[in-house]
Amino acid sequence: KSKNAHQLEFLQAAEEIFLSLVPVFEQHPEYIQHNILERIVEPDRIISFRVAWQDDQNQVQVNRGYRVQYNNVIGPYKGGLRFHPTVNESIMKFLAFEQIFKNALTGQQIGGGKGGSDFNPKGKSNAEIMRFCQAFMTELYRYVGPDVDVPAGDIGVGSREVGYLWGQYKRIRGAYEAGVLTGKKPGYGGSLARTEATGYGLVYFVEEMLREAKLSINNKTVVVSGSGNVAIYAIEKAQHFGAKVVACSDSSGYIYDPEGINLKIVKQLKEVEGKRIKEYVNYRPNALYTEGCDGIWTIPCDIALPCATQNEINGDQARTLIANGVKVVAEGANMPSNLDAINEFLASDVLFGPGKAANAGGVAVSALEMAQNSGRNYWTFQEVDEKLHGIMKSIFKESSDAAKKYGYEGNLVVGSNIAGFIKVANGMLVEGVY
Ligand code: NDP
Repeated sequence: KSKNAHQLEFLQAAEEIFLSLVPVFEQHPEYIQHNILERIVEPDRIISFRVAWQDDQNQVQVNRGYRVQYNNVIGPYKGGLRFHPTVNESIMKFLAFEQIFKNALTGQQIGGGKGGSDFNPKGKSNAEIMRFCQAFMTELYRYVGPDVDVPAGDIGVGSREVGYLWGQYKRIRGAYEAGVLTGKKPGYGGSLARTEATGYGLVYFVEEMLREAKLSINNKTVVVSGSGNVAIYAIEKAQHFGAKVVACSDSSGYIYDPEGINLKIVKQLKEVEGKRIKEYVNYRPNALYTEGCDGIWTIPCDIALPCATQNEINGDQARTLIANGVKVVAEGANMPSNLDAINEFLASDVLFGPGKAANAGGVAVSALEMAQNSGRNYWTFQEVDEKLHGIMKSIFKESSDAAKKYGYEGNLVVGSNIAGFIKVANGMLVEGVY
């Protein structure tokens, strides 16, 4: 803790994982003997760099770029890039640390990493976004590669940004190494169903949680936070399974539509026009817009899917959700529930799906994109979707089985942390000390 005293998000993520691992260390002294915990918590390396770029007024702007290469025991470093003004080393490290175990859970050959910049894409022109991405890759290219480190999208980085990053990498390297980035547009090296993967995967995971409890998604009332990539496709799949999604949000506020969200309008506003979610009420007079995000968890629902950002549910909000009868909380975002909230959910009857397991569908399909790039082929939407569905089922089963095996039946936080950790730790034992 003393080495990372100011990295609050990182300490939060590490604490959650470490607490889960206590029963593992009791049964596996070899991990203690080889000091696995101290080795795994220290990233292989952290790269930080200047990104200078010119805005539309010809002013030179400077941002900071990061890439955290955490662990490559199972495969090349793999994890998204986040462009958001809140990005700092602590956030990069928490995301990269979580990514190691999430990626291990997918069963694909991918290690853990994460990167990004404190660049704020909001209000920037398309040309500014392109120049920023080109400047970012002009520095990053020397540290990544299809067998080295494979970035992708995250908050503020979608297929448009990945396209600009990929174009610049290709130009500098003079080679078509498509597997260097995932989240590319289909038809230009990208995989079908990657856009949908995290949101769909989240709902497939919820389906498994409910199945075990002999329940189903059909006719359930759902609240989703965010209205970005993960949120939109979680809404789409939940509706497809017969749920009624009544709320979603952006960083300014949330909408409540008692008749059920009209996803066509949300997609048009967010994916096509880049507008704020509050415009939704212009098209749906019975819907309500509330400024500020905190109140979204006061809306009664059966299923809550936080899909915006870290620490968006605190203990009080968790208690409100529970008091209102929520049955399932599954994390589409990374670490959206703080430790207090997680403890509330685990102490109640709520079925809680931690992000590490529940939102792993995106990176799983990224690994399938890498496989297609290596094989120089394209799989159909259905093929990828079926593989995604299978992977989410197996992540649920592995997490649930690990929880049972170590005496924490039903606790998917403990189960997913243990299942992911053991794969990586055993790999570290095999590879020797370094
Ligand atoms: P997007 O940028 O597409 O969407 C993010 C959404 O969350 C937007 O609606 C945004 O609102 C809102 N949001 C962002 N920051 C805040 C904040 N500080 N407070 C309130 N709302 C906020 O990102 P994604 O959908 O890709 O990512 C969402 C979450 O899912 C992140 O935690 C990400 O790490 C995680 N994730 C994403 C994966 C993927 O495949 N994309 C894979 C696994 C996890 P606004 O538009 O106003 O900024």
